[in-house]
Amino acid sequence: MQNITILGATGSIGKSTLAVLEHHREQFSVYALTAKTNVTVLAQQCLEFSPRYAVVADQQSAEQLNTLLVGRESSTEVLVGTNAYEEVAAASEVDIVMAAIVGAAGLSPTLAAAKAGKKVLLANKEALVMSGSLFKAEIERSGGQLLPIDSEHNAIFQCLPEDFTSIEAAGISKILLTGSGGPFRTTDLAMFSRITPEQACAHPNWSMGRKISVDSATMMNKGLEFIEACWLFNGDASVIDIVVHPQSIIHSMVQYTDGSVIAQMGNPDMRIPIAHCLAWPKRMNSGVEALDFTKAGALTFESPDFKRFPCLRLAIDTFKAGKDYAVALNAANEVAVDMFLDKRIQFPDIYRLISSVLEIWQAVEPDSISAVIDADVKARSEAYRLAELL
Ligand code: NDP
Repeated sequence: MQNITILGATGSIGKSTLAVLEHHREQFSVYALTAKTNVTVLAQQCLEFSPRYAVVADQQSAEQLNTLLVGRESSTEVLVGTNAYEEVAAASEVDIVMAAIVGAAGLSPTLAAAKAGKKVLLANKEALVMSGSLFKAEIERSGGQLLPIDSEHNAIFQCLPEDFTSIEAAGISKILLTGSGGPFRTTDLAMFSRITPEQACAHPNWSMGRKISVDSATMMNKGLEFIEACWLFNGDASVIDIVVHPQSIIHSMVQYTDGSVIAQMGNPDMRIPIAHCLAWPKRMNSGVEALDFTKAGALTFESPDFKRFPCLRLAIDTFKAGKDYAVALNAANEVAVDMFLDKRIQFPDIYRLISSVLEIWQAVEPDSISAVIDADVKARSEAYRLAELL
């Protein structure tokens, strides 16, 4: 029996994780579930999976959650705040941590799991984008494992040899990171300023949380994934090519020096990479229907359109520039996406705001996680200031 903590249990990835675990109760026991404030969903999950702990962000949510659990034969103890997220990620009883809090808020608890040597199932790509080398150093020091949940990175991981150590030693010539192109791949550019949050969140193939849905619509998501892939697979930026594949059947590919290309395919459903990482190095049923090639239709491929999706180019250039530029990019993006979802800025302003923060950013090499967090705070405040000038 393995104990699992799910950070961000009430989100899209958190729910999919519980949907997989539901069918494997003999193998996994839920130690802790966390949310920010969504106590209605968290209470249902607690009653169904009986975790030892449930964690929420503030006292008011904790009181509401306790009210929902009282008298329901629940033995779950409710904890509150940043330290509690870290505690349930690092507790000695825990074997596996699903890191599925959205955004920079996930960095500290995900890092706590890495430091404690856990098997970390990484959905929270922003943590790696912000702190790449520092995060990886913690995993190596603690002897933990880092397994990618993001479908593309999980696909690449599945296409690598089992004894993978480096791109060169494995004979890899390219990592082909695929992306659907999102909902606006063919939309008239003249319409971009009229795009609504609802349209941006309506992804053609994947059902996801609102922030990553907007990131997919701007293709910033593919940019963040580009950075994530460089860190995960020790790759230089020149090794990774982005290939637009609108059907999302191939989830990414690895091309070897002999000309072979290995692809991972499946229906677009996050329960597949989640089940893969939970069971790794074995396999188990994810509950997802097998891909039926006779119904999948044609698979098509295109180059990314950087003019249409300038956020993608910005993210790639940011990674190449190094230092703490990626922290600033990520923070400015989170502010911009929030403002767009609140209808305070227009869709094209997301790029404008991020690039204006990067233009004035005085980059330094972050030598600690607290330096990363300081840079994140600074970039957010610059983003709010510059948003007034858009
Ligand atoms: P959701 O928005 O659906 O869920 C986010 C989760 O994080 C919720 O449980 C939310 O709690 C919690 N949360 C949000 N803010 C905070 C905070 N400040 N402190 C503590 N908890 C917080 O996101 P997704 O599940 O879509 O995405 C999660 C992560 O996984 C992201 O990093 C995303 O990029 C990545 N990812 C997602 C994929 C997908 O298919 N959804 C695919 C690949 C990667 P509450 O409900 O209470 O607000």
